[in-house]
Order: sequence, then structure tokens, then C-alpha cells
Amino acid sequence: MIRFVGAGCGAADLITVRGQKLLQEADVIIYAGSLVNPALLEVKKEGCKVYNSAEMTLEEVLSVMYDAEAQGLMTVRLHTGDPCLYGAIREQMDALEERGIRYDYTPGVSSFCGAAAALNMEYTLPNVSQSVVITRMAGRTPVPERESVRAFAAHKATMVLFLSTGLLEKTQAELIAGGYEPDTPAAIVYKASWPDEKTFLCTVGTLAQCAKANEVKKTALIIVGDTVKQSGYARSELYNPTFATEFRPAKE
Ligand code: SAH
Repeated sequence: MIRFVGAGCGAADLITVRGQKLLQEADVIIYAGSLVNPALLEVKKEGCKVYNSAEMTLEEVLSVMYDAEAQGLMTVRLHTGDPCLYGAIREQMDALEERGIRYDYTPGVSSFCGAAAALNMEYTLPNVSQSVVITRMAGRTPVPERESVRAFAAHKATMVLFLSTGLLEKTQAELIAGGYEPDTPAAIVYKASWPDEKTFLCTVGTLAQCAKANEVKKTALIIVGDTVKQSGYARSELYNPTFATEFRPAKE
């Protein structure tokens, strides 16, 4: 059986308990070496075979899985963060389904959560923004025109940009063309939860300059929107004493 596992976004103790247990039991581990912390592999059992998918094609990854399956071995396919975002898991799952190979999926802590933690930030603040747009600039993988950064920018919601650190001049121009004011607060989070994590606060208009000055070129998320300031919000209704819930009567 193939077990897809989210590794979390960096720190070795940010994998789920279930994910770590699977790593301990695995006969074969195929991990995304470009972004998965190799310290996670320390729990593997003796004799476990380890492959780094950063150096492999889809066909090679599948071939390792097919071989392991033929020998009745258990394979963990370890993806960075949570595999549901930019994880390229569907194509693997479809290939396995075609062969009738069973698989399951254990989620992980995505880097957009790790970045919020690095900034001590709540993405959804009452009266500031109640939505998070998770997207990316078009790169080698195109983005449908209706989902362009410029189109989403019109909402001025909290936005988290993956895979875009190398394209910041263009990104900031798109963000501004779409509707964010150039002085809208922004943050760059480099290697969230890794020992060398770094966070930088700037504005939409200074994103490219900030990344350049701090030599951030990859493994970073860009967060923009008024929520980055973390002020000017209304307190929650849920914890408001005058608000009755299923669990608590209203207090005078
Ligand atoms: N599935 C992953 C994302 C894979 S795409 C997840 O859930 O996080 C790879 C991109 O994710 C990187 O280019 C970068 O933009 C972002 N990323 C991954 N790990 C990161 C981290 N620890 N800190 C900041 N950004 C990270």
C-alpha cells in the first residue's frame, strides 16, 4: 500500500503523530528532498529504502512504487507541507488507481499555516478580512486567466502567494494593478518553521525591494492584505459575553 503523507512545512516535530508512525513503519520512503527536512527520516526503520523525488521524474517515482507494491512492501510518499496544495499528488493517485494499487493520505501542516505561526498572525480578522486567497503567479505552470493575481487582488482580502518569490517585480505590479494600495502591508516568510526561518514586514509596493535586500529568492511565502498589520479589527462575537452559544448562555 502507498501512504501519501504531509511532512509539514519544515520543523521535524511538525509532522502529525500519524505521519511519523507511518515513517517508522515504512519499507520504502520517497521524499521531496527539495523541501522536506531530512531530519524527519531519522525515525525510519533499519533497511528502509529512501529515494529523493527531487531527482526523479513521475515515471521513476511510480516505478519505485510499483516495485515496492509487487514485493508487498509499504511505501510512504512524503510531500512537503500538505500535499493538497501544489503537491502533484493527483497524477500519482490516478496512476495507482489505474493499476488497482491501494493508497491513502495523511495530511500535514501546510506552509501557509507555518507562515501565519511565524508571524503570530490570524489571517481572518473581523472587519478586516474574512477570506484567504491562496494562489501563485504563473510560472512554468500557467494559471487560468480568471484566477490571475490581478483578478483576485480586486477583493483586497488576505492573500498568500506560493511559488512566486522569484517573480516579485511582476507580482507587486499585478497586486497593485488589481486593487491593493501600494502601502498595503505585506510580509515575506522564508523557510517557515525551519531553524533558519526569517520573516520580513514590508508593503505591497516594496515586496521586490525587500526580498532583494534580504536575499530571499525561494522557499518563501508572500502574504499581503490589511490583516498583515493585525490591528483595527473588531473583537469576536463568539467570545463576546453578550452572545449566547450552544455551549454558553449570554452574560449580563
Ligand atoms: N504543499 C506545500 C507547497 C508546495 S509548493 C505546502 O503545503 O506548503 C512549494 C512552495 O511552497 C515554495 O515555493 C514556497 O512558496 C512554499 N513553501 C514551502 N515550504 C515553505 C516554508 N517552510 N516556508 C515558506 N514557504 C514555503
